[in-house]
Amino acid sequence: MRCPFCGNVDTQVKDSRPAEDHVAIRRRRFCPACGGRFTTYERVQLRDLVVIKTSGRREEFDRSKLERSIRIAMQKRPVETERIDQMISGIVRRLESLGDTDIPSKRIGEITMEALARIDTVAYVRFASVYMNFQAVGDFDKFMSELRPTSTPDEG
Ligand SMILES: [Zn+2]
Repeated sequence: MRCPFCGNVDTQVKDSRPAEDHVAIRRRRFCPACGGRFTTYERVQLRDLVVIKTSGRREEFDRSKLERSIRIAMQKRPVETERIDQMISGIVRRLESLGDTDIPSKRIGEITMEALARIDTVAYVRFASVYMNFQAVGDFDKFMSELRPTSTPDEG
C-alpha cells in the first residue's frame, strides 16, 4: 500500500483488527520512509457497481462519496461512528444485491434515506429535505454537491 504522504510503496502493517462487527478489517500502517501513519480498511466487495447519473453518465460506484454525504447528514448526532459504518456497509450490501450492477443514482438516494430513517430521524430529515429539493429539478449530482456541512444557530 502506497504511503499517502510520501508515495513510498513499502509501508508496514502495525496492527490489524476486525471492525464494524467483523465486516471489515482495520489496519494501522506505518511508512518507514517518512514516519507517516495511516489506516486502511479491507472489505468484501461482491460486485463492481456502476452509478447511472441523472445526466445518463456512468461512473464507478465510490463508497467514500456515499460515506461523506452520510457523515454530513449525521453531523453532531448522538450515533456512534461504528454504527454509522455498519449502516453504510448495509447500504452497500443492499446495492450489491439489487440484481443489476448498473444502479441509478436516484435508487442509491432512496436506499440511503431508508437506512437513515431507521437510525436517526434528524439525519434522515437533513438528507431527505436536500434530496427532495433536487429531485424536483432532477439533478442528483447537484444534490450531492450541495449537501455540505452547515452551522445551525442552536449549535452556537
Ligand atoms: Zn511515507
